[in-house]
Amino acid sequence: MTNISQNIKNLKDELPVDVTLVAVSKFHPVEALQEAYNEGQRIFGESRAQELVGKAKSLPKDIEWHFIGPLQTNKVKDIAPYISMIQSIDSEKLLKEVEKQAMRHERIIRVLLEIHIAREEAKHGFSADECKAILKNKNLDSMKHIQICGLMGMATNTDDMKQVEEEFHGLHNLFEELKDIEFKDHSSFTILSMGMSHDYREAVKEGTTMVRVGTNIFGEREY
Ligand SMILES: *Cc1c(COP(=O)(O)O)cnc(C)c1O
Repeated sequence: MTNISQNIKNLKDELPVDVTLVAVSKFHPVEALQEAYNEGQRIFGESRAQELVGKAKSLPKDIEWHFIGPLQTNKVKDIAPYISMIQSIDSEKLLKEVEKQAMRHERIIRVLLEIHIAREEAKHGFSADECKAILKNKNLDSMKHIQICGLMGMATNTDDMKQVEEEFHGLHNLFEELKDIEFKDHSSFTILSMGMSHDYREAVKEGTTMVRVGTNIFGEREY
């Protein structure tokens, strides 16, 4: 067995059954993704539009492609036919563009709202208040081609795992609050995407439902 299939197998054995594994395959060649696919992996995460489109065209059609990186508005039209979920919605403008392009392709695109939980300024995402304001916006009801399925967040890149846990804990609280209030009539709001290679164990402890793991599956990325 190769490393990639062994890594997938180990992760699946370790993760609770109700935690979904997104294999973050950005910068890795299609052969690597095919190996993970052969091990049963069907959800892959990419962070560049062109790369995602190229891979989607050459790999099996039953793969679910998730976009996880910063997304420019003008790139949405490129990924719209292929994308299953956009996890990195960080502005209302982007949300509107996804609605527009999903409508053009007569499909529904699932999205997560990215929440800024890290102490690092450079990270993207809404504050809790901004997120609540968006959800109160009446325009949202008219967006029939997007489905808001939950929240995504990235913790601070630090070895202080106590801080990481606190950040995940805060995100989980926001998720539960929104689920009970804003989304009480929407059964689709079920995904809390948090945890990467170095902090997925902390995320599991804090109630994640979806982890995004790259390095621990495919090895280091070459930029
Ligand atoms: C690259 C990336 C990951 C995966 O990171 P690893 O440390 O390689 O597991 C997860 N989430 C997002 C948003 C990313 O950009």
